[in-house]
Amino acid sequence: MSGIDYDSPAALKAYLDAHGMAMQKKFGQNFLVNAQARRRLVDALELEPGTSVWEVGPGLGSMTSMILADGARLTAFEIDRGFASCLREELADYMKGDGATFRLVEGDVLKTWKGEWKENGVPERFFGNLPYNVAAAIVADMISAGVRFDKAVITVQKEVAQRITAKPGDDDYSSFSVLCQWAYDVSNIIDLAGGSFWPRPNVDSRAVKMVKKEAFPRCSDPSLFMKLVRALFAQRRKTIKNNLNALPETKGRVDEFLEKAGLAPTLRAEVLTVDQMLALSDVIAEGIQK
Ligand code: SAM
Repeated sequence: MSGIDYDSPAALKAYLDAHGMAMQKKFGQNFLVNAQARRRLVDALELEPGTSVWEVGPGLGSMTSMILADGARLTAFEIDRGFASCLREELADYMKGDGATFRLVEGDVLKTWKGEWKENGVPERFFGNLPYNVAAAIVADMISAGVRFDKAVITVQKEVAQRITAKPGDDDYSSFSVLCQWAYDVSNIIDLAGGSFWPRPNVDSRAVKMVKKEAFPRCSDPSLFMKLVRALFAQRRKTIKNNLNALPETKGRVDEFLEKAGLAPTLRAEVLTVDQMLALSDVIAEGIQK
């Protein structure tokens, strides 16, 4: 177990100074210095001894150490070489021998996760307090690759969380909302104001839980569905008919497909449910085979 006082900005600063390190803004480094919130997030993972977990951005290991203490088998992805070396020092006991439960993958998770996936498969849980530029990209990349976790608990900038959970008709409803809600049941866990972090960010954060949908992919051609969703939202102000005219698969046959799917051509994507898009995708998949 690590001996760092994760609730004290002064202690964290002293620890970093002693290791010749400083917080790096470019990596979105803001530590969660609220013990209650950390416990709540880790509890939301519903870990059992031996549960396999990926954590993105462990930092100095405040929640990494809790996940390990709960008996999980954890692989963490960290871009900051200095943090990685501190983690090796602080959590050395979990990395030793045949029974090791902690592995660290250094580098940009957007570049490293696929290698880890190919080598060791998909873990049961996904966890991270993610910098905002990485959050949406990593979630979208993984779903697009067909990688889904039984449960994911992610803390993200509030705007990203709103996009994940937005419903048809909401301002934040986007192709990203559809992608997330196609793959997962999504819900909010807790809001975290800037004061829960050190250094204090200008934005609020929100933790979101994503639980794998049992029925998946609910369409005959997942890659066509993802292409369709991107096309439907390509220009938000345009009707679905106009957006679909730009998609090679539907060009010239848009009216026919929309009629078969029971959708008015004048609708905008922002009012369509995930199920309506899935049904449209199947109509198109069937139609282009003919
Ligand atoms: N988990 C710690 C906590 O909650 O206190 C730190 C969270 S901090 C918001 C984000 C962490 O993600 C930092 O450790 C940062 O170095 C790491 N990080 C940022 N970009 C990354 C990337 N592309 N790949 C892997 N880790 C990244």
